[in-house]
Amino acid sequence: MPECSFHSGVETEVSCMECGRYICPKDMVPTPVGYKCPICAKPAPSQYILVKPKQAAGAAVLAILAAYGGGLLLIVMPIHFLFITAAWGALVGEAARRGSGGHRGPIIAGIAGVAVVAVGLLLGFWLLDIVLGVIGVMLVTGWGWGR
Ligand SMILES: [Zn+2]
Ligand SMILES: [Zn+2]
Repeated sequence: MPECSFHSGVETEVSCMECGRYICPKDMVPTPVGYKCPICAKPAPSQYILVKPKQAAGAAVLAILAAYGGGLLLIVMPIHFLFITAAWGALVGEAARRGSGGHRGPIIAGIAGVAVVAVGLLLGFWLLDIVLGVIGVMLVTGWGWGR
């Protein structure tokens, strides 16, 4: 019997659908077309996930501007509803998305999230407001991969 390509000494007859490497049960990743090795099963990074440094910088600049501008508006607002801070976070997330040229995902969410937390702390927001702001960021930029 052939050996597993990932674990020497482990015999297996199953091979990866894509590259043909032999895989033992530990390595088998079920996919709609059959078992794949862990290397081939990794989703191809989407173009919206790969953020270039220039795009990340654009996202950071717009996110900080939106966070600061929106944050100042929140301070002068006479009535302070909780969902407004979430909307503020969503605004920052949207700014980061546009600043990066339409990217989403963990990197943009991280940039916008940091902007919300940093500006929130700077302006003396309550922790709950900052948390809600971060939730707003996530609603817009999304944690998900490949969108
Ligand atoms: Zn493979
Ligand atoms: Zn193996």
